[in-house]
Amino acid sequence: MNKTHDPALQSWVESANLPDADFPVQNLPFAVLRRRHCDEVFRVAVAIGDFALDLSSLQKTGLLTAKELDACVASSLNEFMSLGSASWSVLRAELSVMLTEGYAGCDLIRACLIPLSDVEYALPAVIGDYTDFYTSIHHATNIGKLFRPDNPLLPNYEYVPIGYHGRSSSIGVSGQTFHRPVGQLKLPEKEAPIVAPCRRLDYELEVGIFVGPTNSSGYAVPIEDAEDHIFGLCLLNDWSARDIQAWEYQPLGPFLAKNFASTISPWIVTLEALAPFRAEFERDSARPAPLPYLSSSKNSTTGAVDLQLEVLIQTSRMLQEGKSPERLSLSNFTDSYWTMAQMLTHHTVNGCNLRPGDLLGSGTMSGSTHGSQAALIEITEGGKSPVTLGNGEIRTFLEDGDTVIMRARCERAGATSIGFGEVVGTVAPAAV
Ligand code: MN
Repeated sequence: MNKTHDPALQSWVESANLPDADFPVQNLPFAVLRRRHCDEVFRVAVAIGDFALDLSSLQKTGLLTAKELDACVASSLNEFMSLGSASWSVLRAELSVMLTEGYAGCDLIRACLIPLSDVEYALPAVIGDYTDFYTSIHHATNIGKLFRPDNPLLPNYEYVPIGYHGRSSSIGVSGQTFHRPVGQLKLPEKEAPIVAPCRRLDYELEVGIFVGPTNSSGYAVPIEDAEDHIFGLCLLNDWSARDIQAWEYQPLGPFLAKNFASTISPWIVTLEALAPFRAEFERDSARPAPLPYLSSSKNSTTGAVDLQLEVLIQTSRMLQEGKSPERLSLSNFTDSYWTMAQMLTHHTVNGCNLRPGDLLGSGTMSGSTHGSQAALIEITEGGKSPVTLGNGEIRTFLEDGDTVIMRARCERAGATSIGFGEVVGTVAPAAV
């Protein structure tokens, strides 16, 4: 923790000082954006209150001296991500001073601000590779019960941070609308599968983890160093076609059930901004201890992140009726059975080289309690217990026109709360 986390800091951007602001001066997340309805180039920006600070414009003012800013005069964050935590920290410290009340050059910086209501986003990084984990043991057990009632949690789960390689080409930024996927479905009453639009379309609330500096091929990242390879976190909606998944997933895991669309929030909250919200990594004592390469004292004492996660739905009828989105779940990243450091270290234990801008998904972050289940398949117990919304509409899975909204926020006594903004995505009818 350092001066940038001081809860006493107030910004001259007044909207940043509101108690429910996602982007106070203690946050300073990064995105790639431009003004809406124009053909400007997309560029890197930092959020402050209800504004984006355009770092390309900021550089032209000459007010910021850190050479690290050069890497942010770009249409993606990959180069800045590659620099590492010391460089990220230098830029953050200088931005914090410039955006704090009392800064003499604030009129020049004001000219570099764009209202968030006027921006459109691009993906924050060129995502070379995307890996999705499965780190909530509650989700793994609930899903396992539905797919394998006699054997819900496979024996490797307690030892291996389970994951699969996803697809980056279909990752979109918040605001994404995608067509309901078509695929092979095996209906219980039919002998042979059919090809049809998915009937059991679901969302998954996940935390996205952006990789920073690379590791050399052949060399594992020790767990003590794992967080030096993580730039920051965002929200990830891993849309899932449960009927396609049930038929195709054995023996090699998810394939077409997952790779038609995944949506991330535009703002990446840096690990440095999350420092006040780190938490003990807790494990049920009945579970085996992690193997030594997945264990360190730092990981045990501060490996987790106390990050509240929320899913909401707004159907097209709710939108027409002027009804606000309705909450479907509330959970926390501390529900994760593995920390982000353990995910990254395990990913490289075989020598696999990660690259700046690679994205890791945490897996559906469900808790153990009713109301904390972060996918419809869990909430509805595989479709058996539908959800009734406030206007009387019923959902077992997602219908065309449904919009799913995810939010995240860190709150802790003695710290200024920070938010992640939103990830929003909408289901369109199948393109057939
Ligand atoms: Mn997933």
